[in-house]
Amino acid sequence: MSRVRPLVERMRGYMPGEQPRDAGVIKLNTNENPYPPAPGVLTAVAASASADLRLYPDPAATALRVTAARVYGFAPEQVLVGNGSDELLTLLMRAVVGPDDIVAYPEPTYSLYDTLVTIQEGRSLTIPFAADFSLPSALHAAEARLLVLCNPNSPSGTFTPVAELEELIRDRDGLVVVDEAYVDFAPESALPLVHRHENLVVLRTLSKSFSLAGMRIGLAFGDPDLLRQLVKVKDSYNVSRVAIAAGVAALEDYEWMQRNVARIVATRARLAAALTARGYEVLPSAANFVFARRRGEDQASVQAGLRARGVLVRHFATPRLSDALRISIGTDEEIERLLAALDALRS
Ligand code: PMP
Repeated sequence: MSRVRPLVERMRGYMPGEQPRDAGVIKLNTNENPYPPAPGVLTAVAASASADLRLYPDPAATALRVTAARVYGFAPEQVLVGNGSDELLTLLMRAVVGPDDIVAYPEPTYSLYDTLVTIQEGRSLTIPFAADFSLPSALHAAEARLLVLCNPNSPSGTFTPVAELEELIRDRDGLVVVDEAYVDFAPESALPLVHRHENLVVLRTLSKSFSLAGMRIGLAFGDPDLLRQLVKVKDSYNVSRVAIAAGVAALEDYEWMQRNVARIVATRARLAAALTARGYEVLPSAANFVFARRRGEDQASVQAGLRARGVLVRHFATPRLSDALRISIGTDEEIERLLAALDALRS
């Protein structure tokens, strides 16, 4: 007899990238920021580590909500704070998707969407991206309760202009979620559309551009009525006191983030050129990683070889992705070591 739901027993579960214990490893597999968070964040974290930790945090994370609203030009009621944007995706699915409800998204994309739809007993309607990762026009006709668009997309790193997203949002009544985990590395954001379309939720994270993956902070921007529904299905104390303090301090030093983004974007161009010179096809990236492919050549052995040389990159064993590697942008020095390891492997 199974002690869990048969559906859970059948699930494979989301597979997060490897998190090594060994500090010497060059970690280019989960799109973390190679630069530290702003100095003010560390001060704020230290200050928050006080006797007040005996008290629960503010369930609405008001200080962070108010700061995010000010920084991005919204009212606090249009912002919800999550324990990472992963939690906000969970809340959206929980609130919106019931058994047999359809959730549409282009694929390949962030595979957590699929896991979350399965948990809800919903149905995924996946529509393949075109070969160049432009949006498939069939998305317009997709009848779904929820449409999820990851922009920039992962693992491709490719970017769809916001005007194109707006056409999709305008065409439908149902909810559209734009997952902007990587948007600070991209040319433009869909956030302004939130003012014009009440069926749009934009998700942001402080994990990537703000160097706070370890703190778990996500932001949802959307219609206050919808966000109030999400609050009903969230854990009361979903964001810790320490995370609230860190998030406020990170947003207060927006320039620190922008400086690091500029360095990462410059390194991204160098890495793309170096990989192209080595025979990889590199998709144009608007994210803090590149997607590099050698058509028809499975890259599992390359990933394993790099790993043996202390460099972690991401390989996806699914058919459409197996001839590619997704490589996070590290420091220039880390990228030099990646390239040296790659050359050693192939000589
Ligand atoms: N969306 C996408 C597309 C991602 O790649 C990630 C990071 N794995 C997330 C959301 C979640 O980020 P976090 O929970 O750290 O905010």
